[in-house]
Amino acid sequence: MRRSFKFLLRPTSKQAAAFARCLEDHRQLYNAALEHRRTAYRKAGVAVRYGEQSAELKHIRADDPGGQGRWSFSSQQATLRRLDKAYRAFFDRVKAGRTPGLPRFRGRGWFDTVEWPKDGDGCRWDCQPEHPTAAFVRLQGVGHVRVHRHRRVLGTVKTISVKREGARWFVVLSRDDVPAHTLPATGAVADIDMGVASLATTSDGDHLDNQRHLATSASRLAAAQRNLAGRKRGSKRRGKAVARVAALHAKVRRQRLDAAHKAALALVRGYDVIVHETLNVAGMTRRAAPKPDGEGGYLPNRQAAKSGLNKSILDAGWSAFLTILSHKAESAGRQLIAVNPANTSRTCSRCGHCAKDNRVTQAVFRCTGCGFCAHADVNAAINILRAGLALREAAQAA
Ligand SMILES: [Zn+2]
Repeated sequence: MRRSFKFLLRPTSKQAAAFARCLEDHRQLYNAALEHRRTAYRKAGVAVRYGEQSAELKHIRADDPGGQGRWSFSSQQATLRRLDKAYRAFFDRVKAGRTPGLPRFRGRGWFDTVEWPKDGDGCRWDCQPEHPTAAFVRLQGVGHVRVHRHRRVLGTVKTISVKREGARWFVVLSRDDVPAHTLPATGAVADIDMGVASLATTSDGDHLDNQRHLATSASRLAAAQRNLAGRKRGSKRRGKAVARVAALHAKVRRQRLDAAHKAALALVRGYDVIVHETLNVAGMTRRAAPKPDGEGGYLPNRQAAKSGLNKSILDAGWSAFLTILSHKAESAGRQLIAVNPANTSRTCSRCGHCAKDNRVTQAVFRCTGCGFCAHADVNAAINILRAGLALREAAQAA
């Protein structure tokens, strides 16, 4: 199986400056390649492909030995492939009948990662096995950079990426053949409900990770962003405000990942089968329809609750959590089952009667068919769990 490991880098000031230049050159390459594709299409109706752009790299490097020529050919190819991926996603969305925006030019601060697609090609992971926490990564054009290796790394390195988060630099190793660490069976099955107050709640009523730390950082982040909005462009104070926002963003991301890892670990330790709702990410980001009040104004439509910083942090948190959970479940030999949540909140878990009127309030469920009464979340959880188990049986029978 494939997993990634992320470590803090400890570059010297010279190396940090080289990272910044490396990132900037890769960003410019990305933007130039995007411009090339857009112009060719606008002027001649020609769709430029990755292969043609990759073939031009040779000339770009030869023409700019002190600039683009400094970096690894493969990392530049990876950047071009990234653009290609953005275009493919764009065309997929067009084919699906949506109207997506074209891939965008990346401004400074919107391009934070450079990838070296193969260990040994412009980059080299140097593990220092005799030392408990040290390691180095050697990168073309940057040098031999110290890594704070806070945990053991398993498997063989496939790709190496360097990532900027605020003022810090990280290396991300993607590894193959990481041995699976199967856990003994517990005989327990859980349905998890992803919520706002806690990341996830199991059908046994356990709340995994309260998001208090995250909420504190999120409100600090909101304050920092308001502060940034009031600063004049180009001013020194604006520069500081930008750095603070970036640092807080990175902190929120780290806290969210940490919480997600802990919650996922608790789940795979405790349960053999974990059932969850499929996340409707498109639905979560769609704006609520305005509700006119008939007097020229609008009634509350809960848009405020559906948007905003807090919400977007939570949404991203859920999908990140599910990704982590699926990796841990695979590694531990656990089953993760996704269930479409349609109608689970309005269907009676005792008799199967499905009606809108069953849901009396947000919290109360009372079946109009058989009179079954329960907490609405519990009723929905039972339905989801049952649907998940039915899916599993069907899969085993096939
Ligand atoms: Zn009923």
